[in-house]
Amino acid sequence: MTPVDLLDLDSLLDDEERQIRSVVRRLVDDRVRPHVADWYERGHVPARELAREFGRLGLLGMHLTGYGCAGSTAVAYGLACLELEAGDSGVRSLVSVQGSLAMYAIWRYGSEEQKQRWLPAMATGEAIGCFGLTEPDHGSDPASMATRARRDGDDWLLHGGKMWITNAPVADVAVIWARAEEGVRGFAVPLDSPGVSVREIRRKMSLRASVTGEIALDDVRLPADALLPGAAGLKAPLSCLTEARHGIVWGALGAARDCLETTLAYAGTRTQFGRPLAGFQLTQAKLADMAVEWQKGFLLALHLGRLADAGKLRPEQVSVGKLNNVREALAIARQCRTILGANGVSGEYPIMRHANNLESVLTYEGTSEIHQLVIGQRLTGLSAFA
Ligand SMILES: Cc1cc2nc3c(=O)[nH]c(=O)nc-3n(C[C@H](O)[C@H](O)[C@H](O)COP(=O)(O)OP(=O)(O)OC[C@H]3O[C@@H](n4cnc5c(N)ncnc54)[C@H](O)[C@@H]3O)c2cc1C
Repeated sequence: MTPVDLLDLDSLLDDEERQIRSVVRRLVDDRVRPHVADWYERGHVPARELAREFGRLGLLGMHLTGYGCAGSTAVAYGLACLELEAGDSGVRSLVSVQGSLAMYAIWRYGSEEQKQRWLPAMATGEAIGCFGLTEPDHGSDPASMATRARRDGDDWLLHGGKMWITNAPVADVAVIWARAEEGVRGFAVPLDSPGVSVREIRRKMSLRASVTGEIALDDVRLPADALLPGAAGLKAPLSCLTEARHGIVWGALGAARDCLETTLAYAGTRTQFGRPLAGFQLTQAKLADMAVEWQKGFLLALHLGRLADAGKLRPEQVSVGKLNNVREALAIARQCRTILGANGVSGEYPIMRHANNLESVLTYEGTSEIHQLVIGQRLTGLSAFA
């Protein structure tokens, strides 16, 4: 329960969903909250250690079935993302990229051998995965990717580079998307393969408690069985993004909730002009508007989660959720920042960290503009971008 839940939306969840949420919330309280300000400031997060702890709780590839995955519902997975991101968007990103991007790609498009090789180890957090779609010169327009895959006898040769890849510096395997003669194909690439080099991207001012890297592929020779046999065409990586975006629809609400709860507590005790900030009408107007947006966002996430569980969730519906919930979460974080005054910019409070993180969340997994274009295409029948 959160004081922001004016509409008793909690009552829309079942006991199992509430229980999963409590377990993840406790984990975040114990393992993330006490350390995250420090990780953020240092730009260093113990990703491998966290992955193993998340794996023990069944959070990695949580909504997938078989191969050691928990097989939970999409709503339960969404609630887990919300609680993780109430800790930090970077920590949620570790779990999203592992489960919804890297593991999902192998689970959906991989051979039985690839699944056996990677998924059980990734579910426990012993192996970490990443997902390489973005390139230095091709972000919103992955169809123009320059990374090439060509056959050489039975082998494949991969050449090119991927940029802004979450988890890459700590990963064991990358799902790499490359253009082959017949179109875009996906490969499970062990990152210790000769010709692969990974460089950590430093000086991020956002998602500092998440490891991000650049992957260079210099004629990397891969055996035929590195190809994900089921993934043909750009729709394969895009389907993985739909999975991950659903988690973000929920996750962003976690960051916003943490900002709101922090702000309510702060405004109740900080006095100016002889009364608590919470007693000023202007502050209450801000709090009321933010609480309303948060509740609407939660209803939207829950609706999309239930659609996903019914197998009916369409990509443009996820775009509605990602566009709205990240945009509103960021607006909430910025507004909360004003209520904390100077303390709002301090790392002693989580608000500026969440606001900075949400800038990345607004951009990755499809920028807001791209989601507007997806929605616009659905409304008008005209594509303005592809
Ligand atoms: C911290 C972080 C982690 C990331 N992790 C991953 C990862 O794990 N794997 C991965 O593959 N990628 C990852 N990304 C990359 C992310 O997905 C891209 O940054 C994103 O897709 C946008 O691409 P770009 O940065 O190249 O921006 P660009 O595509 O250059 O866009 C710049 C601006 O132009 C706008 N724009 C572009 N095209 C249009 C258009 N047709 N109409 C209107 N506006 C347009 C965009 O909306 C944006 O505002 C990550 C990014 C960050 C910041």
